[in-house]
Parts: sequence; C-alpha cells; structure tokens
Amino acid sequence: MNAFSRRGACPALAAPMQTGDGLLVRLNPVAGGLSPKLLIALAESALRYGNGIMEVTARGSLQIRGLTPESAALLATEVDALGIAVRTGVPVETGPLAGIDPQEIADPRPLAERIRAAVEETGLTQRLGPKVSVIVDGGGQLGLDSVTADVRLVATRTDTGNRWRVSVGGDGQNARPLAAADDDAARDIAVAVLRMVAEKGRDTHARDLSERQLTSLAGWHSFTPPSVQTERGAKDRRPIGLFPLTRDAIAVGIGLPYGSMPADKIIGLAQSALALGTTEIRLTPGRALLFLGQPATANRPLQDAAATLGFVTDPADPRTRIAACPGTPACASGRIATRDIAETIAAENADILDFTLHVSGCAKGCAHPGKAALTLVGGENGAGLVVNATAKGLPAGYRPGYDAARGISRVAAVIRSARLPGETAAACLTRLGAAGIAEAYRQE
Ligand code: SF4
Repeated sequence: MNAFSRRGACPALAAPMQTGDGLLVRLNPVAGGLSPKLLIALAESALRYGNGIMEVTARGSLQIRGLTPESAALLATEVDALGIAVRTGVPVETGPLAGIDPQEIADPRPLAERIRAAVEETGLTQRLGPKVSVIVDGGGQLGLDSVTADVRLVATRTDTGNRWRVSVGGDGQNARPLAAADDDAARDIAVAVLRMVAEKGRDTHARDLSERQLTSLAGWHSFTPPSVQTERGAKDRRPIGLFPLTRDAIAVGIGLPYGSMPADKIIGLAQSALALGTTEIRLTPGRALLFLGQPATANRPLQDAAATLGFVTDPADPRTRIAACPGTPACASGRIATRDIAETIAAENADILDFTLHVSGCAKGCAHPGKAALTLVGGENGAGLVVNATAKGLPAGYRPGYDAARGISRVAAVIRSARLPGETAAACLTRLGAAGIAEAYRQE
C-alpha cells in the first residue's frame, strides 16, 4: 500500500503519474469551476509541493507537476482541506458552458446525470478502464468535438424535434455514428456501449467493439438515421475570447500558452479576477480558463491583465496552434528546450501556422498524444522532425536541438514560396511530402 492509497481521501488524487519531472497529479473539480480564492490556494499548494508548473489539458483537467510521493500526499490533504470535491468514476463530460449557454440546443446536464447514475447503479465503474469516457454535448458555443470519448451524445435539431446523435469512439470528426435517439434511448444506448466495453475487459475501448455489436446498438430504439438529421449543432470554437451567456452575462475565455503556466502567474491572474468581481473560474477543454460572474465592464481589464502576464487572450494567437510540453529544463526527460523553441516559432512563423505543430521534449509526447502535421521531438540525435505522426514516429530529419526553430523557419520559407493560390499551409505540407519537408528542415 502506498502513501496515496493509505490516505484514503480524494481518490482522483490517489494515483499520481510518473513523468520526467516527477509525479503529476490531475484533478477535475466536480462542479467544473473554482472560486478565484480556491484557485489561488491551489496554485499556492502547487508552488509549495510541486515544481510550480500548472497545466490545463486539452480535455480541461488541471494538472500539477513536479511532485514527490511525499509532497503529492501533502497536496492531496490540502485539496481535501480546501473542500475541493474532485470528480471520480467514469467521466461524463458536458462542456464548460453547459446549462448557461443561450445557443445550446439542449441542456446536457440532466442526461449526463442520468448516465452517471446508471453507471453507478450497474457497477460499471470498477469494470471499465480509467480512460473510458462519455461526452454529452448540448450543441452550444463551445463544442467538445476535439475531445475523444468512447460514447458521444450531441444535441441535434431534426425535423421531428431535438435528438441526441449517438456515436462511439474517436472525436467529433471521426467517431462512428450509431443512432439518433431521445433522452431515454440515448441513456440506454450509452450504458449498453459501456456494458459491452466492460465485458471485453479493462483495456477495452468502444472502438474495439465488433461490427455485430455496433449494428445491434445502432438498431436499438433509435429514430431517424443520422444521415437525415437537419443540423449538426455543435461548433468547436476555441475557448478564448468573449462568450455571451444567459441573463446577459459574458464569460471570458483565457488560454494558457501551450497549456501551462507557472503557478505564480495563475495566482496573479486569479487575484486580478477576484478584484474585478469574478466569482467562478472554470477549466475548459482546449487548455483554457473561463471567468464568470464579473461585470461586463471588467472583461477588458481582465483580458489586459491576462495578456500582460503572458496568457493567451486572442483566439488567433499562433501559440494556440502549437502543443509543447515543459521540456528541458523543467522535465528531466526533456532533450530540447520546448518552450523557447515554441515561442520563437510562434513569433516568426505565425502566418503559416494553420496546422498543429507539436514540440515534444522526448518521444513520450505528453502535450499531444495524437498525430500532428509536424512534430519536433528531442532525442539522442538532437531535434527530430516527424511528419504527420505522433512524437513516437520516426523522424524524417534532424537538426541540433538548439537550432530546431531555425529548421521550422526553413520549412516555413518553403511553404511560402511553394504554396498555390488559396492553398492552406497544411495542404501545402501534404503536397510537399515527408521527404521535401525533411530536406527543407535540414537546410543550412
Ligand atoms: S514529453 Fe515532455 S513532459 Fe513528457 S516526459 Fe518527455 S520531455 Fe517530459
């Protein structure tokens, strides 16, 4: 039994993960939001017990890095003492504006609650792997298309009224459509998918279900086939900027560059928010924080304070196109200075960044587990450039780590000269191919 399981409280903090810079703790407040004072207290704990780096992930979880087994246990005790209830069980995610978004097709919270209750009643939590998740997306301003899930229910307007479009596996683009269903049927299908996944074992995901199982799920209680639905509904805006809410309120979305910030900057921003009247700060998928409750006149000063501290306040900021882990020197496994490289690339090549660029300190790829158009990855041979694959992919070319940003500038120069009228940089990269990109990257 380790220090965490002995502690017994705060189970979401009970299994810190080993990373290159010590243990990492991930937590999701139950209500999705924290008061500014609680966020300040949490950031102070991160400074006291970790290496002072805090992250908001692509899924909207808060991470505290650089802990030891002893300090992680102390942090967990402080989180308990602060009264921050953290989410446990199978994640059933609804998005940060659920229930307060006037553009929502349906409030996803009641259905999410029914699914959570059904999962508990059927004892599925213990039988499902830790990464199995469900999304219930009300189809509002901040969709969850970019977040992967085993079961995805998206509110959709159809000719016969609102329905939940049910799909399995993947993200909003590549999930497999199953059915259009009302509340009861959507809940039943979601639970049936989870039951089938549980029966196959804890390493299983919905993408592992057989064709026969998927066909049987698709034919169950559903209404019109998904192809005749009239509207997709959910949009996938970046959670940065201003978002009108019900009762004339406005939420302010502020991004963490590359998903992380030193805890003292988070404290600075939360203190400004507190002074300006913010009552709640929500974590949001897309590596951002949403500030709620402040008067409309405070929104601009809040954005200005955030920009001064180095946060992202403009959805077009090129840093939103780059995923970068802490890298060296923050992470002992890092072989390249990811943040410095990312900053240089963002400053010099904003015009061509219409694709995702991943800068990874090592092949673990913590910041972006999926594929990216280009990935710079630190290794024994310096900074490798991987094309259209994950950080674990085989680099097509190398450059010394300190010189990696210059290599991307060479690729950017080739894109600028080779691009056809109207062609995106992403399409141009595809046309150039791995060999052409690697040649440009290696150029002196
Ligand atoms: S990917 Fe980055 S954060 Fe993850 S272990 Fe490697 S260097 Fe550390």
